[in-house]
Amino acid sequence: MASTPHDADTLSQTFDLLVIGGGNAALCAAMTAQAAGARVLLLESAPIEFRGGNSRHTRNLRYMHERGNDHLTGPYLEDEFWDDLNRVTGGQTNEELARVTIRQSNNVGEWMTLHGVNFQPAMRGTLHLARTNGFFLGGGKALINAYYRTAAKLGVRILYDAEVTDLEIQDGLFKSATFVSRGLTQKVRTKAVVLASGGFQANLDWLKEYWGPPADNFIIRGTPYNKGRMLRVLLDQGAKPVGDPRQCHAVAIDARAPKFDGGIVTRLDCVPFGIVVNKEARRFYDEGEEFWPKRYAIWGRLVAQQPDQIAYAVIDSKSIDLFMPSVFPPIEAASIEEMAAKMELDPAALKETVAAFNGAVRPGRFDSNDLDDCTTVGLEPAKSHWARPLDRPPYYGYPLRPGITFTYLGVTVNDRAQVILQDDRPAANIFAAGEIMAGNILGKGYMAGFGMTIGTVFGRIAGKEAARHVLS
Ligand SMILES: Cc1cc2nc3c(=O)[nH]c(=O)nc-3n(C[C@H](O)[C@H](O)[C@H](O)COP(=O)(O)OP(=O)(O)OC[C@H]3O[C@@H](n4cnc5c(N)ncnc54)[C@H](O)[C@@H]3O)c2cc1C
Repeated sequence: MASTPHDADTLSQTFDLLVIGGGNAALCAAMTAQAAGARVLLLESAPIEFRGGNSRHTRNLRYMHERGNDHLTGPYLEDEFWDDLNRVTGGQTNEELARVTIRQSNNVGEWMTLHGVNFQPAMRGTLHLARTNGFFLGGGKALINAYYRTAAKLGVRILYDAEVTDLEIQDGLFKSATFVSRGLTQKVRTKAVVLASGGFQANLDWLKEYWGPPADNFIIRGTPYNKGRMLRVLLDQGAKPVGDPRQCHAVAIDARAPKFDGGIVTRLDCVPFGIVVNKEARRFYDEGEEFWPKRYAIWGRLVAQQPDQIAYAVIDSKSIDLFMPSVFPPIEAASIEEMAAKMELDPAALKETVAAFNGAVRPGRFDSNDLDDCTTVGLEPAKSHWARPLDRPPYYGYPLRPGITFTYLGVTVNDRAQVILQDDRPAANIFAAGEIMAGNILGKGYMAGFGMTIGTVFGRIAGKEAARHVLS
């Protein structure tokens, strides 16, 4: 397709700063830099209909706050936030950058509202996030639309269908970027660049380098456009890597989900209320270890480690209304044997697993809102909470696959969001924000709403520092 007059008009202009990417981190950087006086060009590889990357799938963001407000039920202070992060990462985080993220999240609620985002009243129920996380009214799509509107009003120029394919970097300094827009290869020179182009989870070949053939069975929950092209270029041109390439945010999702972009509706939150078995009909992990938002992000990896990367969640009719329903209907059966047959599992093996589980359940007071005392005794692996016998038909089952959200291998940055080179020097005019640098802070594990926190805080830092650089 030829470039439109609008594109030609945009490309005839001179820009100070190039922002690569079109999700939350990119827009936060672009709006901040433009508001500070820089002339910003933003290149988004997706067409306008699919703009917004993974950010358009999001629902909430975790941020530090001193007291409750109309969308948060109580305070969430630095120490508690830090403890939560330290626990999920097992200490695999850069404390300096993590504390920058936490402290600078302090005002994001007000900042986002000023930039057009609305929050919905506090959500209650099984999510357990009402105190810590703000939920966007209309979800991530509404947030992204608001940010694109605000960015355009501020004067940021935006090109869609514009995939950056290469960067010219000399002596650690960014010179220009090559991009393909509607079939035409073009070059843009600016005084600085912000890389906010996501992880490499949509690049199955790259995933296979670390996971081998099992990666073929992974489902990518978000955008197909995050192929890690800019990450590869940066690493090849001397950026210092950060993060274990096998670490990622991966949840168990409905195996019937599309390969890409299925989004939030394919996630299954029923795990704590039943049992999960592999294709041999054997349990392999404590389904009730913790509240789901603190554990959901380990289940993708757990399923990835099972034969053929498949698992099955089984609940009974006592639990069917306790979680957000999946977009796909559950498999329903009147007996455990019938369930096994429908899921192509060995009926005798599943019956034995369920019988062993039921026999190990210690009676307690079930409470889906609390870490209750319904546990198993003498069972391996144990189920620590919400253990109730599977004995009330109909039974419901869901097939599970690893659903990759985003990868943690990225580029090292400093507290000014500058990319660090292999000799530990910061690149003066190359900045990174969002998934592409999240591995500095998330060495492993995840806690709900933190991806948007990292992207918002580092997007704003990158925008501010890049503007300072180009205007100095
Ligand atoms: C289903 C789902 C639900 C989620 N829910 C939440 C949630 O509720 N809260 C939360 O905090 N996090 C959530 N996350 C994680 C969150 O989406 C990410 O952490 C965050 O959005 C990342 O923002 P980003 O700007 O770094 O990347 P993205 O939003 O993915 O943006 C990257 C952008 O870069 C563009 N791009 C890629 N390569 C190029 C290139 N070469 N040239 C030009 N453009 C390029 C892409 O098109 C895309 O627009 C969720 C993710 C998914 C998939």
